Amino acid sequence: MAIKLVTTVAELRAEGALLLGLKQGTSQGLVPTMGALHEGHAALARAAVEQNDVVVATIFVNPLQFGDAVDLDRYPRTLDADLALLEEQGVDLVFAPSVEEVYPGGQPLVRVTSGQLGEKWEGASRPGHFDGALTVVAKLLHYGLPAAGLPAAPGGLPAYRAYFGQKDAQQLALVRRMVADLNFPVDIVGVPTVRAADGLALSSRNRFLSDDEREAALVLSRALRLLEQRATAREPLDVESASALVESQPLVALDYFEVVDPETLEPLAENCRETPFRGEALALIAAKVGPVRLIDNVPLSS
Ligand code: AMP
Repeated sequence: MAIKLVTTVAELRAEGALLLGLKQGTSQGLVPTMGALHEGHAALARAAVEQNDVVVATIFVNPLQFGDAVDLDRYPRTLDADLALLEEQGVDLVFAPSVEEVYPGGQPLVRVTSGQLGEKWEGASRPGHFDGALTVVAKLLHYGLPAAGLPAAPGGLPAYRAYFGQKDAQQLALVRRMVADLNFPVDIVGVPTVRAADGLALSSRNRFLSDDEREAALVLSRALRLLEQRATAREPLDVESASALVESQPLVALDYFEVVDPETLEPLAENCRETPFRGEALALIAAKVGPVRLIDNVPLSS
């Protein structure tokens, strides 16, 4: 079936309900994005299509999560290519609303606050970013709720799942906390990071890197890979050498590089650097490469 584009919440609800009815569906998947889609987003869409009868993707560049108006203005917008990519993955419906549709009264008075978890790491460099991101995710999750009263799973409402990339580990952890703390009726599915063949994590911002900067940016994934190999081999995590690798690259200004608990994102005890690594953790990295801020992470497990 050809993909359908809608721009209002009313259309989204009507079309979503129609599709669930037509397909006699018992599950709906939601894939929130800001557009400028690449293979990372395609992986989210594919996971959603595999696991749900009806899949809605959203494309919305959310002003509330941008501290910097210039950054917001120059965020890439590529709607036609995005629709083609989503159609190829089998997405049914795309919701690409205007700013006025999402925030009809201007800036919302009541917002989601991301608490301590939203103030560290990315939150420390981008104050208010996660409050803005969670506020729009809350709204998108509500917009995408499968219509009540339509063909449901035996004994209940249709299943509802939303897909987020592990690439944005802090966002994923925060969305999970919001959904748990505020009892949203949705399962959050995390999808592994998709990388270019040379290891660079795909990001809509990579297009702003010059050739030299793109080459320099490879130290981020290389440093993470070093820690991953250490963890898998149950060796101490040598964060210092991995950081030194990043700092040896003059085009890269390291912001943070830490091994943290995957849920609380609190740094792990220092002794993971000296004693053999056991357990589950996340290595987080952020750096400015030329003018572009990049983030990456890798799950550590042994
Ligand atoms: P964005 O459009 O950047 O807001 O991203 C939309 C969703 O795609 C978020 O859940 C991101 O975590 C996810 N995403 C972005 N890049 C990747 C990637 N390289 N691999 C997997 N997911 C990604």
